[in-house]
Amino acid sequence: MIFYSTNKQSTPASFKKATLEGLAGDGGLYVPSEIPRFSTDEIELLKDAPFNHIAFAIAKKFNDGEIPDDSLWKIVERCFTFETPLVELEKNTYVEELFHGPTLAFKDYGARFLAHLTGHFAQEDHTLITVLVATSGDTGSAVAYGFKGVPNTRVVLLYPSGKVSRLQEQQLTTVGGNVTALEVNGDFDDCQRLVKQAFMDAELKQCLALTSANSINISRLIPQTFYYAWGSLQLAALHPGKKAVFSVPSGNYGNLTGGVLAKMMGFPIKHFIAGSNANDSVTRYLEDGRYEPHPTVETLSSAMDVGNPSNFARLRHFYADDYRAMAADISGNSVSDTETLDTIKSVYDRFGYIIDPHTAVGFRALEKSRQTNATLNEPSTVMSTAHPAKFIEAIKEALDMDITIPDRLQEVLDRKKISIPMSTDYKDLAAFLMKL
Ligand SMILES: *Cc1c(COP(=O)(O)O)cnc(C)c1O
Repeated sequence: MIFYSTNKQSTPASFKKATLEGLAGDGGLYVPSEIPRFSTDEIELLKDAPFNHIAFAIAKKFNDGEIPDDSLWKIVERCFTFETPLVELEKNTYVEELFHGPTLAFKDYGARFLAHLTGHFAQEDHTLITVLVATSGDTGSAVAYGFKGVPNTRVVLLYPSGKVSRLQEQQLTTVGGNVTALEVNGDFDDCQRLVKQAFMDAELKQCLALTSANSINISRLIPQTFYYAWGSLQLAALHPGKKAVFSVPSGNYGNLTGGVLAKMMGFPIKHFIAGSNANDSVTRYLEDGRYEPHPTVETLSSAMDVGNPSNFARLRHFYADDYRAMAADISGNSVSDTETLDTIKSVYDRFGYIIDPHTAVGFRALEKSRQTNATLNEPSTVMSTAHPAKFIEAIKEALDMDITIPDRLQEVLDRKKISIPMSTDYKDLAAFLMKL
């Protein structure tokens, strides 16, 4: 399959090129030349299939022979070694838990798939690929764990000293092996500027094969269709003849775009609800077709604090820039911090189930949509994007109690932090990378 840039100025790319480049040369996002379709018969065959079979079937259509089937199957098997459970809270209301990967958040799906594909391409070319990432927290840890131990790859993370949570810092600095954490004496913008300068440094690029692994990479998007396909088939088995409604807590809109692709591929999905926090540029657009991004506001669901989401360009592309078509498939609802805390409490009181602040936004957005649109009283699934133990303070505020920390997380907290101090002067970063 061939991939185009949403800005339409770059030459089309193979799957490999699109994956290793991340962002197209013209600054646009890569999109597939066509959306692969699954016939009713093909879907019927996948109905009782395990997660990895569904993942492989979808990946194969996008990859279109560039990677031999046996290698692609091995990649899928190495990526998805954890469960994706669907939990029923009450009749017609489910939660799909996307947080059973190594960093306890849904970004593990995308980061792991991208990591193993990058490793495959690097081995094919007999090169060592260096992944350079600036992170304010969550993306970096998913990338670090995704690439951990992947042959022919190494990761250099830049994070702002003192500006990430303790848990995030531990997740960034204790992986070791092929992952190096640089603790930058500045803020996140400094980290991003340093990384950008490295990518523009011709001399450096002669010595190192650099790639960015950032969140708009097409190979992070594709695996985000797998769990919608899987979830919709699980739901169809429980409710024959019904199609799923998915409520998606959204920030940069990569997760939701994965869902839209799964629907367009032919999986039994009826509708989406985009739940945003106070950063509501897209949910406002879905009301009146006007896109007016605002500056980013800080909220309790911090991984969704994005004022101008980059995947919005992709969503628009998939709906051929037709606002009405997009609004027919997706309803938007914005949820305040007060509502977020209320929802954590009410879900716990009603079902004895603890959700994190991001999932709570998705849950409340679903409830709001059901009040105004009766057709949404259908089997509905809230995408749960993070384990509540990652947001202990918010849970404490909402429920006035401490929650147990899973062993995996406690183990990370107990490890010794190893980071290399780095100034905000690009010369220092360049010198470090040259010696790597
Ligand atoms: C990144 C993230 C989101 C937002 O996902 P997008 O794909 O950016 O919309 C939601 N919840 C959590 C926990 C996240 O880490």
